[in-house]
Amino acid sequence: MEKDASAPDPSRQRNGFSGVLYGEFADALNDELRYSVSLTESALTVQRISSSPDRTKVAFNLSDCVGCRSHTGPDTSAYFTAYFYPMKRRWMSAGLARQRVEQCFRVAPAQDPLVNLREAERWAHAIRDASERLAPRRDGVACTKLRRPCRTMILVNPHSGRGQALQLFTGHIQAMLTEADVPYTLVITEHQNHARELVRNADLSQWDALVIMSGDGLLFEVINGLMEREDWQQAIKTPLGILPGGSGNALAASLHHYSQSPPAWNEELLLSCGFMLCKGLVGPLDLVSVHLASGQRLFSFLSLAWGFVADVDIESEKYRHVGAIRFLMGTLVRLASLRVYQGRLAYLPAKEEPKPQTENAKATSTRHPPSLSSPPPGHVAPDASPKQRGSLNNRIDTNLNQNSFTNTSDVITNMRPETQSNNKTTSPVDSLLPGLDQPVPDNWTVVNEEDFVLVLAIYQSHLAEDLWTVPGATADDGLIHLFYVTAGISRPALLRLFLAMEKGSHLACGCPHLVYEKVRAVRLEPTSQQGMITVDGEVVEYGPIQAQIHPGMANLIRG
Ligand code: ADP
Ligand code: MG
Repeated sequence: MEKDASAPDPSRQRNGFSGVLYGEFADALNDELRYSVSLTESALTVQRISSSPDRTKVAFNLSDCVGCRSHTGPDTSAYFTAYFYPMKRRWMSAGLARQRVEQCFRVAPAQDPLVNLREAERWAHAIRDASERLAPRRDGVACTKLRRPCRTMILVNPHSGRGQALQLFTGHIQAMLTEADVPYTLVITEHQNHARELVRNADLSQWDALVIMSGDGLLFEVINGLMEREDWQQAIKTPLGILPGGSGNALAASLHHYSQSPPAWNEELLLSCGFMLCKGLVGPLDLVSVHLASGQRLFSFLSLAWGFVADVDIESEKYRHVGAIRFLMGTLVRLASLRVYQGRLAYLPAKEEPKPQTENAKATSTRHPPSLSSPPPGHVAPDASPKQRGSLNNRIDTNLNQNSFTNTSDVITNMRPETQSNNKTTSPVDSLLPGLDQPVPDNWTVVNEEDFVLVLAIYQSHLAEDLWTVPGATADDGLIHLFYVTAGISRPALLRLFLAMEKGSHLACGCPHLVYEKVRAVRLEPTSQQGMITVDGEVVEYGPIQAQIHPGMANLIRG
């Protein structure tokens, strides 16, 4: 079926609008069905041309569009297809979630296939252009856009979650990235710390974004790998993305929440994060610098936990196969053997302006240089030996539209030289922290209590997909949200808190054992002989630990 007209609307042009098109096209599958299609700066409006009264107009918001592609047909015609992921009512259950809608039109006004293809390309280009210009705006957040085309490295942990991260990627994300013309290279991790080693040594000039498809643990590896580089200051600014494929997807759930979307889980959450990646908005992400008693330093984007929360996180690893619900199962099991943990807690309240650093404190921090070279306990020692580098060949090279990543030998050329001693830069200074062996400064608050059920320092809104722990948190609020629960809380009261957390209403429970403070730095000194401390859900060395926030140190792909 032919296109009858396709021209810029003159009245719109007079008003200074650009990129406004009108045309009439046939349905991609049925020549009898014809549509009038108009493109404005904010919507693609499709109306069926029919003699019957049914002339329903459907407007697709371009802010929901990830891309538009054109191609030739089997005859002289051409096609263009626009891909939308609007919020739609769920099938069978309440609420809204992003769902894929494709609009494909047949262009055939001319005998010459090239003329038709050019017309289809013109529409596809205009739709892409208008969608990109319509980037969502987040008030108060200084967002930028990813470079186009965005050369993306996607790291997949095949063992994360229920062991289906790769299948989830191919089933839900791969096509979307093609629709959005995002060229990517998939790297399947082979062992713990593989991603960490890889980003530590990669030539980052080859990548516009580093994305992980896993749980929070793989992003922890990537961030620490970037911070271990001599050029960490630039490296950590590489836009980072997360596609939830693990059983602990707290950052993905937080990002989804920051995008002001109604709650989503599992594949819906994945689709939402895939959509954000395609839209390519980048905003700042706070990092927290964590010091352990051994002198080791880590960088964290999510949480530092001790007591109940850390125990549940680690003990529930054995229920990994059930997915995100493992935390609820772990909570119930742990409640049965609820225990009290002894230790000292101190923090720098957020309202306190940091004191100018004393010479003493400066000297202390020099005496305790942050160790960026050693991995945290429980992690496999980094080994960038040639043998291991060779193992990077397991990556799947995918080139979508552009032939930029077809050569597997670029695995080696992608590696940065191991040492660059000439332009070594110092690691970030933690100006709020004295040495761990020094007393905390006067402007810190020392908690009177020494018997705790849990201590949780969190810097995102969600601790897990269904644990909305900090209702007011944003990715870059410059705050550590410190929660602690003191001994004496009953089992039912603790369970009530966690159940209320699903709706973010735990602070309204009136529980006298729950304390919440906004802080910039925190120190924890456990005195109980045994226990577990986790950073971003990963076990770290048990013992004194302190941390401080670094506002907006990293960049995150967000909605
Ligand atoms: P989950 O949310 O399911 O726990 P994570 O992404 O947190 O998923 O990964 C769990 C752990 O697996 C992390 O400690 C991570 O460093 C580690 N890891 C990453 N890649 C691999 C791999 N290929 N094999 C084994 N462990 C891995
Ligand atoms: Mg994890």
